[in-house]
Amino acid sequence: MLIGIYVLLGFAVRLVVPYVPASLENQLGQMIKSTLPITEHSELESYEAILTKLIGADEAEDYDVFVISNTEFNAYAVPGKKIAICTGMTEEGLDEETIAFVLAHELGHFENHDHMNQYGRMLVLTMMVQIVTGSDSDLTNFATGLLATTEMKFSQNDELKADAYGVQLLNDAYGSYEGAITLFNKVDDIQDRSQLQSYLIVIHTRKRIEAIVELMEE
Ligand SMILES: [Zn+2]
Repeated sequence: MLIGIYVLLGFAVRLVVPYVPASLENQLGQMIKSTLPITEHSELESYEAILTKLIGADEAEDYDVFVISNTEFNAYAVPGKKIAICTGMTEEGLDEETIAFVLAHELGHFENHDHMNQYGRMLVLTMMVQIVTGSDSDLTNFATGLLATTEMKFSQNDELKADAYGVQLLNDAYGSYEGAITLFNKVDDIQDRSQLQSYLIVIHTRKRIEAIVELMEE
């Protein structure tokens, strides 16, 4: 029942999000950015150059790319056209086409408004849990955990869609989508190395490679 209401509210968020004014999204983005551990990085200019190669100078100028101190091999789409790349990723010495896919994948999240949908759903989730259980109860933790699992499934679908958008952009700019395959092979390597290998995540990575190859070989 609760999950049903949550899913319905999730759809409502999806309907509203495309009409959120850019100024409001920018404010939210600034707020989030101010909480992030931003760090200077020597590669930042080359990332900006790659973004320009992907979408052209005019569009690239609207984006704010920065590096954050975070050991995760990851990058995030932050509201207000901001892309945060973790040092756990910048320190892996990825080649240009692989970084290009990382950026193109994040551009896919902006195209699909995933970042705003996600914040909207998190807001709905937090409000619902507070209304239904009152905060700080065991039941709150239980409900949050349960709904977070549902949230993961939404996210996997968003990831595949962002991959599809990103791989097209990559292929248009570089005449190859090798960077996408290199990235996911790297994800597998890192999972092996850190022994954090999760069966589900490995399946997910393979599924992502398969989906990309299928799309591009059509
Ligand atoms: Zn993503």
